[in-house]
Amino acid sequence: GKTVGTGTIQYLTHEMDEQFTRKLQLERSLFTALEDEALHLAYQPIINLKTKHVDGFEALLRWDHKALGSIPPDEFIPLAEEAALITPINNWVVLEACDQLAKWHQQLSPDLTMAINISPHQFQSDSFVRTLQHVVAEKKIHPRFVTLEMTENIAILQTQRTVERMQLIKSLGFRLSIDDFGTGYSSLQYLRAFPIDELKIDKVFIDGIDLGENGLLDSIIQLGRNLNLNLVAEGVETSSALHYLEKTDCQQMQGFIFAEPLSVDEVAARFGDAAQ
Ligand code: C2E
Ligand code: CA
Ligand code: CA
Ligand code: CA
Repeated sequence: GKTVGTGTIQYLTHEMDEQFTRKLQLERSLFTALEDEALHLAYQPIINLKTKHVDGFEALLRWDHKALGSIPPDEFIPLAEEAALITPINNWVVLEACDQLAKWHQQLSPDLTMAINISPHQFQSDSFVRTLQHVVAEKKIHPRFVTLEMTENIAILQTQRTVERMQLIKSLGFRLSIDDFGTGYSSLQYLRAFPIDELKIDKVFIDGIDLGENGLLDSIIQLGRNLNLNLVAEGVETSSALHYLEKTDCQQMQGFIFAEPLSVDEVAARFGDAAQ
């Protein structure tokens, strides 16, 4: 009874201490992560389901911490937001991804696309649209090659302002995509109101294929087709899921079955011969 209870509390306290220490350690080193050049982008190919060609890439942020190793974005992006460090990091991501796209347009293929993840905080910031415009002008790329991915949670706040900002970004030529579709704050209402080009169907629905649960997936695909949206299947890991998707109206897929997020060198090694 008592002894075990005390032990458990001590154990929990110790674990909370460790978590707290890790958080502090990460927060402290985040301040210099950019100037230390400890951040980089990994690029996951987006594959055309019909042709099996690489249509483009999604940029995914990576942080190589000196002492703690590779920190996943799901862990450090929320910390960066809390510590008000996120804006320079976000701006760096947009600049770096567009810089790489400009290089690949020269080296690999002139119609490759680049998808960039945009957090709600970033989307709402006053300088966001200016940064986008500035970067594509500087890198001399047409905005139609740049897709901005946002989750449905963007719809929670200020619907009217969100729609207006989306319309502005669309009018500049960028593509807009809803990420992790079907898992967040979902409302069919916003799908009509938002000027979006694409839905990225969350991995949970793709995993359903191998579990014999494709009802929701089929409904999402039908919905996307009715709304004339490009459909991307996320997190495709098995050949059975791939074969199923090939028979649907999904246009593109991403997943470990084809490639995980790659370094620039790995992209060159795998796709570099496409340049000749
Ligand atoms: P996301 O945008 O939904 O990205 C897809 C995540 O699924 C990536 O994890 C990717 O590595 C992983 N993934 C891709 N294919 C497969 C697969 O076949 N199986 C499995 N199990 N996983 C797969 P990652 O890179 O850890 O990123 C996690 C999340 O962090 C992203 O989810 C995105 O929400 C966020 N994130 C990443 N980079 C950025 C960024 O530059 N800015 C912002 N705001 N968020 C970012
Ligand atoms: Ca994404
Ligand atoms: Ca996603
Ligand atoms: Ca996600």
